[in-house]
Amino acid sequence: MDFADRLDRARKATGAAGLDALLITPGPDLRYLTGYPAVVLERLTCLVLPADGDPVLVVPRLERPAALASPAGGLGLRLLPWDETDDPYSLVTGQLRDPGRVAVDDHMRAATVLALRDALPGTEQTLAGAVLGPLRARKAPDEVAALRRAGEAIDRVHTRMSEWLRPGRTEREVGREVAEAIIAEGHERVDFVIVGSGPNGASPHHGLSDRVIEAGDPVVVDIGGTTADGYCSDSTRTYVAGAEPAADFAAYYAVLEEAQRAAVAAVRPGVAAQAVDAAARDVISAAGYGDAFVHRTGHGIGLEPHEQPYIVAGNTQPLEPGMAFSVEPGIYLAGRHGARIEDIVAVTADGVERLNRTPRGLVAL
Ligand code: ZN
Ligand code: ZN
Ligand code: ZN
Repeated sequence: MDFADRLDRARKATGAAGLDALLITPGPDLRYLTGYPAVVLERLTCLVLPADGDPVLVVPRLERPAALASPAGGLGLRLLPWDETDDPYSLVTGQLRDPGRVAVDDHMRAATVLALRDALPGTEQTLAGAVLGPLRARKAPDEVAALRRAGEAIDRVHTRMSEWLRPGRTEREVGREVAEAIIAEGHERVDFVIVGSGPNGASPHHGLSDRVIEAGDPVVVDIGGTTADGYCSDSTRTYVAGAEPAADFAAYYAVLEEAQRAAVAAVRPGVAAQAVDAAARDVISAAGYGDAFVHRTGHGIGLEPHEQPYIVAGNTQPLEPGMAFSVEPGIYLAGRHGARIEDIVAVTADGVERLNRTPRGLVAL
């Protein structure tokens, strides 16, 4: 991955936004710009990216070896190590010549934000996401390839679901084994495991509980993790184990499948993000379930499980090649059951590529 190019494009965008510098602390933005997957600590690590000048990484001396061992070490980035009794904030301000406006990392700890505010009292401070969000939303081909690999890894977990999901087991028992499989199939970290059985499936972000799965329960399984290169997976399938589901459930599941298909088919360059949401919502509303689709249709994905662009009414942003996001309509009937179908898709030069490929129909186990 070409981090030097990313730093260069971010530097130009910083100047174009009328900013003197970006101040980036550990998190997805630092990883995007330098490849350094630094852990968030109370000690300050901060990339100072001036609009006109070379970037500098202020880093605690004990973190210097880890920074050098990461791709950041191969970038020729200047490292400014600080010792335990130094003031790291003065190292940051020392790199800036009387800045009028700087932008700070959206993910920065509040304690760091306030310390920087004190260290730069005359400087207007805004959010770096306004500069980096649009850059990160348009993935380079190597990033789409990384998301494709993440999609294949989570697809392998869904394909194995019959090994774990059976009537008589609790959601937690199933979820524990699914989490192990998320790692075994090619992720470095488990980000979330949702096993929503029966009425729990009507809560979109349910998680896991000690409820015992009953024969015929619809079960919403939404799983995702982060691969070694930092890119995330996220896919939902709805299963039914041990018996046929209730007729009312089967009726709306067919509507949901059609809604998801229509939304994916709407994806191409130039289409507004909100049009993809409308494509799913129109199908669900026309069938009388509009009130049961309680969330947006999707979210961008990359180095974070949720990032720009958001696929939601009101987002008129046109889709561009390289954008990657989820298409995940759901229907939720409180107290009874629910269903969701979720694929990650990438916008191509003239259409769409699905990065999840397991069958989308109701999966009987
Ligand atoms: Zn979600
Ligand atoms: Zn999901
Ligand atoms: Zn999602």
